[in-house]
Amino acid sequence: MEKSRLGLKRWFVSRWRKPLDGMLVAAIMSIYTLVAFHVPLFSAVVAATEGGWHMALILCSFIILLLVANFMIYGIMLYAMRTVGRVLISLFMLGNAIALYFINSYEVLLTREMMGNIFNTQYSEASSYFSIGAVLYTLLLGVMPSVWLLCRKVNYGKMRRFAVSMLCSILGIITLALVNMGSVLWIDRNAPVIGSLILPWSYVVNSVRYANQQCAAGREAVLLPAVDSISASRDVVVLVIGESARSANFSLYGYERITNPLLESDGVTIFEASASATYTTAGVEAILSHAPSDELYESLPSYLSRAGVYVSWRTTNWGEPSLKVDSYLKAQDIKDRYADADMSYDGILLAGLDEEIAASEADKLLIVLHTSTSHGPTYYKKYPSEFEVFSPVCTTVEMSKADHESLVNAYDNTILYTDYLLHSVIEVLRGVEDRRCAMIYVSDHGESLGEGGLYMHGMPLALAPSEQIDIPFIVWTSEDVSYKSFDAVGHYHVFHSVLGFMGVSTPIYNSSNNIFMTVGTENDVVK
Ligand SMILES: [Zn+2]
Repeated sequence: MEKSRLGLKRWFVSRWRKPLDGMLVAAIMSIYTLVAFHVPLFSAVVAATEGGWHMALILCSFIILLLVANFMIYGIMLYAMRTVGRVLISLFMLGNAIALYFINSYEVLLTREMMGNIFNTQYSEASSYFSIGAVLYTLLLGVMPSVWLLCRKVNYGKMRRFAVSMLCSILGIITLALVNMGSVLWIDRNAPVIGSLILPWSYVVNSVRYANQQCAAGREAVLLPAVDSISASRDVVVLVIGESARSANFSLYGYERITNPLLESDGVTIFEASASATYTTAGVEAILSHAPSDELYESLPSYLSRAGVYVSWRTTNWGEPSLKVDSYLKAQDIKDRYADADMSYDGILLAGLDEEIAASEADKLLIVLHTSTSHGPTYYKKYPSEFEVFSPVCTTVEMSKADHESLVNAYDNTILYTDYLLHSVIEVLRGVEDRRCAMIYVSDHGESLGEGGLYMHGMPLALAPSEQIDIPFIVWTSEDVSYKSFDAVGHYHVFHSVLGFMGVSTPIYNSSNNIFMTVGTENDVVK
């Protein structure tokens, strides 16, 4: 018995020490990548085809393509980079495991925009995604194969054998491309979804694309034409940028639950509105821009600050374009000034707001509050306990496992808290006696709460469901103003409405995007 156990151990040790052929390792890792990480991809392919022969052909093609292409890439990495190649492939396995966890738990697509979201997530937000599931995915699917790959000896083989393997792979890919010529239209239509589920290449390629985009965005903003004239009235506009707030859950927009008890009696005006983006950086950029453009133009706060308006930016969020403003305060900066303020929630943005308005000697003030209240997945952590009106609330971060009703309860509580925040801004403005005041509230994008199996936001705009696009656009003014009527407004109405309200005359002003009934060139706000 003892002898056979020793024999088995010796056999195992000798097998383990025996170097593995480099091309065999590439093949094993390619098969592992396919089997372990591509169930969501195959589900998406099945869902996007109508079954029958077409589905079988596309499915088989994807299986062969992924096997051959990954075999080739892993083979080249191993042969050319040796140990470095092995380390890189191990990192891919870890990355794949984490990516798969997010795909399965949040139904996210790893597009360029999503990679931008991930790189812009602060540690405090990232830690809210932590769960036992994430650890298990990482250990079982990422760490274990990495340990195997890094510990085995590898015989990288001769150049000739490597070259033949690569040549056969290339021929295989060309054949596959020829067989699938008839599916070009299908592939073109489904590329955004399918491409974002191919691991590790979705996040690798889209990270590079995002980095390129950021390099382009790092350039200096193009200055807008100088302001011609500015009206003499003393005004203050508070622009509140919402986070992941969807209009469908605002009772102001017809939601059956009373989520806006305070705003409903504040005399606000609402507009049907659509977001121009489904993720924060692009949504905020659009809110602050005069028009959609690939060019990076000066944003509203920087533009008005240059024109002599006092501009203050207060934020518990991130992802805004670079700003040149008079005051820029993060939550910690506000806390340093107002020790009693509670940093846990967006209420901190209101601390000392009245004092800041009273202290400014400028005729015109623009104060931007960039909130974060409805950001998932931990909605239940975004409001003080007295706003937990709808219960029970979901406390899991793995949304796909969450009970839908408790997820909606937690989200609705964030809207209830937003109602309180906006009402509080209006209360502050009611106390301002010597200025015309306006509050404009608009969200950066909407949010999915499990409809169609989707959670949170970040779907490519063309594919995004209405939950991620339909946003609240709520306005309050201290004196009666007339509004134009619109079927729907959007992010690009903010810039021109603020200009219109303040009576700023500039060649860039577009009166058709001003919600107020104003004559822009004459600075005549209709009262
Ligand atoms: Zn956002």
